Amino acid sequence: MLPYNSHTEKINLIENGSISLVENVKFFLEEIDKRKNLNCFLDVYSENALSDAKIIEAKIKSKSAGKLAGMAVAVKDVFSIKGKRMTCGSKILKSFVPLYTATAIQKLIDEDAIIIGKTNLDEFAMGSSNENSAFGSVKNPINEEFVPGGSSGGSAAAVAANLCDASIGTDTGGSVRQPAAFCGLYGLKPTYGRISRFGLTAFASSFDTVGIFAKNIEDTKLLLDTMSGKDEKDSTSVDFSEAEKKSEMKSSLKIGVLSVIINHAISPEIKQKYLETIDNLKKFGHEIVYIDLPNSKYSIATYYILTTAEASSNLARFDGARYGERSTVSASLQEMYINSRTEGFGKEVKRRIMLGTYVLSSGYYDAYYRKAQKVRRIIKNDFDKCFKKADTILIPTTPTPPFRLGEKVDDPLSMYLSDVYTTTANLAGIPGLNIPVGNNSEGLPVGVQLLADQFNERILMKIARDLNSISRIFG
Ligand code: GLN
Repeated sequence: MLPYNSHTEKINLIENGSISLVENVKFFLEEIDKRKNLNCFLDVYSENALSDAKIIEAKIKSKSAGKLAGMAVAVKDVFSIKGKRMTCGSKILKSFVPLYTATAIQKLIDEDAIIIGKTNLDEFAMGSSNENSAFGSVKNPINEEFVPGGSSGGSAAAVAANLCDASIGTDTGGSVRQPAAFCGLYGLKPTYGRISRFGLTAFASSFDTVGIFAKNIEDTKLLLDTMSGKDEKDSTSVDFSEAEKKSEMKSSLKIGVLSVIINHAISPEIKQKYLETIDNLKKFGHEIVYIDLPNSKYSIATYYILTTAEASSNLARFDGARYGERSTVSASLQEMYINSRTEGFGKEVKRRIMLGTYVLSSGYYDAYYRKAQKVRRIIKNDFDKCFKKADTILIPTTPTPPFRLGEKVDDPLSMYLSDVYTTTANLAGIPGLNIPVGNNSEGLPVGVQLLADQFNERILMKIARDLNSISRIFG
């Protein structure tokens, strides 16, 4: 076990000489090696991490280190880091080396975080179980027969297995909150635009957000504050920190809960934890108000129309000419494009390119793509109404606990349905946080999800802290 519970505690221990940062990084590297079978990491930066640790340790001692000094952070392999391979979990990019570093990751490095390696993921972040990676599935460290969730499964498993302090993922439809729920972690999907997407490989650009996995809420907040802000390289990024500081926070909040737990088959154990969490929040003096999200039953359909459309366009750049692998057996340019994409992309990515091309095609555009855009707006309007009644909304994160490896691979629809509670936040651009609330009868983690209005992440953090102290008081 690590001798600290948060980054602040770690810094204190290093400052007073109780632990050495170099030893701490060595510990993580050894653990990564011991737990290779989990398949969390695609690349580990052992040498860089150790040399950074030496330099940063000296900076900590001389009190000149950044806010994240020595925090060992793993990064989902969809972010560019200059000079380091970026695969996106795909064969088509298996030896691609980017020329620049993503803004979000640069901000971590500037505050003296140690980037310990790149983590495994579903190919181009498409999936819910990490079984779509060209580099093999990731196992859930809590029980290796189960999936860690996806698509940021490697990032979640790495933190849950104590192979690093925290990690960075991406959430387009749930890929941080769902694996955080499956691995027993805090998983934050911030407001769309809060963190720059520059250097993040696009899946569905109007949905993609940079997300955070951590073991506690303090580290989550520290990472969010470090990465947030306007970036001139991403025109959709927004600076909201000043406005946020001015708004005051009430101690008793109105928490919106679902009057009917959505249409969907929710496992009884998840429902029970959800109801227990509502009771705990009442004990803390928060007021429960009932809300409805009447159109959330359309969220999965809307999400898969819009994201596949955006993906089909974004992934057109991987053509064998501009990026990554090129097929060597082609007789013409046209054939080279076809062969490179046929050989380079996996089954799920191909499925989505075809779906996306279909919904954008001239005969079907109005029936699917345009209609889905309208439904997206209606879903956002539902949330706007709810946030007039409630400060925050509590819903389950996933309909079921982690499922077994292989259980859903041949049934894409049932795989897609595991995002039934997460995609709405991406459709509306609002923030969501998975909060771990214990285990089911098989010892597998269960999470609940808090949603807030745009740029209101602070409320999520406050409720998460309250729940944490409740579990300490009431056991
Ligand atoms: N599981 C969802 C999908 O496959 C979400 C992915 C994500 O958030 N990157 O699209």
